[in-house]
Amino acid sequence: MPQRPPLRHCPICGIAMQARKSLPEAEHFDRFECLNCHTTIVATPVPDGEAQDDDA
Ligand SMILES: [Zn+2]
Repeated sequence: MPQRPPLRHCPICGIAMQARKSLPEAEHFDRFECLNCHTTIVATPVPDGEAQDDDA
C-alpha cells in the first residue's frame, strides 16, 4: 500500500498544502506547496551534520 503523505498546513493561509517529492523515485514526500499562495516548505527530517566551524 502506498504511504499517505504527511499533512502540512500553510503557515500563511492555514490550509492543507500539497505534498511533493523532489525526486520521482523518492520514497518520502519532502516538499509541501501551498496552492493558494505558492509558499513552499522543504521538509528536512535529518539536519546536515555540518559543524559550525567559523574559525577562518
Ligand atoms: Zn498559503
